Amino acid sequence: MSGILIITDHTRGTFSALTSEMLGLAAQLRTSGLAPVRVVVVGRHMKGAADSLALDGVDEIVLVDCDAPEFDGGLYERAAAQLAERYEPELILVGHSANGMAYAAGLAVALGAGFAADVFEVADNAGALRATRSGYDNKVNVSLDFMDKCVTVLTVRGGSFKAPAARGVPKIDAIMLDSAQVSAVWTHGRFIDPPNEGIDVSKSEFILAVGRGIQDEKNVPRFAALAERLGATLACSRPVADSGWLPKSRQVGLTGKPAAGCKLYVALGISGAVQHLWGMKHVETIIAVNTDPNAPMFGVAKYGVVGDLFEFVDALEKLLLTA
Ligand SMILES: Cc1cc2nc3c(=O)[nH]c(=O)nc-3n(C[C@H](O)[C@H](O)[C@H](O)COP(=O)(O)OP(=O)(O)OC[C@H]3O[C@@H](n4cnc5c(N)ncnc54)[C@H](O)[C@@H]3O)c2cc1C
Repeated sequence: MSGILIITDHTRGTFSALTSEMLGLAAQLRTSGLAPVRVVVVGRHMKGAADSLALDGVDEIVLVDCDAPEFDGGLYERAAAQLAERYEPELILVGHSANGMAYAAGLAVALGAGFAADVFEVADNAGALRATRSGYDNKVNVSLDFMDKCVTVLTVRGGSFKAPAARGVPKIDAIMLDSAQVSAVWTHGRFIDPPNEGIDVSKSEFILAVGRGIQDEKNVPRFAALAERLGATLACSRPVADSGWLPKSRQVGLTGKPAAGCKLYVALGISGAVQHLWGMKHVETIIAVNTDPNAPMFGVAKYGVVGDLFEFVDALEKLLLTA
């Protein structure tokens, strides 16, 4: 058993950021001897996709051609299991996405592999793998060893690893997978496009985020106008989205979106629960406004205002009027 197999994460041929992040993780592990790194693309007519995966640290791209028009968990599990038999990798990386979660655990069971989900750190521990994930509702970090396992399947948390910057020259291999061989434990129903608001908080460089501290839905237009005036994208914490004050697509965090491209994050009335921090604590400049001096958001903020967010916004609006 040797090397790494990465099962790419894509929707209709568009790779998620997780795919290149997994390549970054593999490139890092490769330096401690975990090689070769093989990158698997399952899908229809994906030949053209290979070029974007030809990055530093990738030894081989394996294109698995199949006639399924959409993501199909059964098909992915089958393809990954077949490739695991063929290449005998020590580690299989799957994105911790809706797609990855649909088949990774089943794949691990089928292979009798070690398994951990949502990992954000993987290291070589004296020749053995050690993965770190969160435990107890994200309150502690848990390190896991996979004793007596020849192969380990990990699902990788988004936003945890950097994509390789340099290009590489991997070998390209193509394999046909007969989808008829896939046992119909479940079948693909239909693909539902997420509502397109034309806004992607994960791409915004400047986010003005509001939490339960804004107190009432009727206050939302005021913050929307402020965000527009500042040139920021309006985002929110989960309770704001769950209450329907803002669409779900604006939610930052574990079950929302990561503020992946953000450089400036202003958090108004957001406590800073771990699930929210997951999506934004990496941002270089965080400004927190909160009446509670012990709010965890202050723990990640560069600048903090302990005070009423409405007073803060009054002052900001006045400044903007005179600007
Ligand atoms: C599995 C799971 C997944 C989750 N995923 C997410 C996620 O993706 N994103 C997310 O955000 N949450 C998520 N949550 C919920 C998370 O645990 C918190 O409940 C949530 O983030 C709290 O939102 P909040 O900070 O807006 O509200 P609260 O925790 O209620 O905080 C409101 C804050 O506003 C402050 N405040 C009140 N009035 C004012 C004022 N006038 N001026 C200034 N400050 C004021 C308060 O001091 C308080 O700190 C998840 C939870 C679970 C269990």
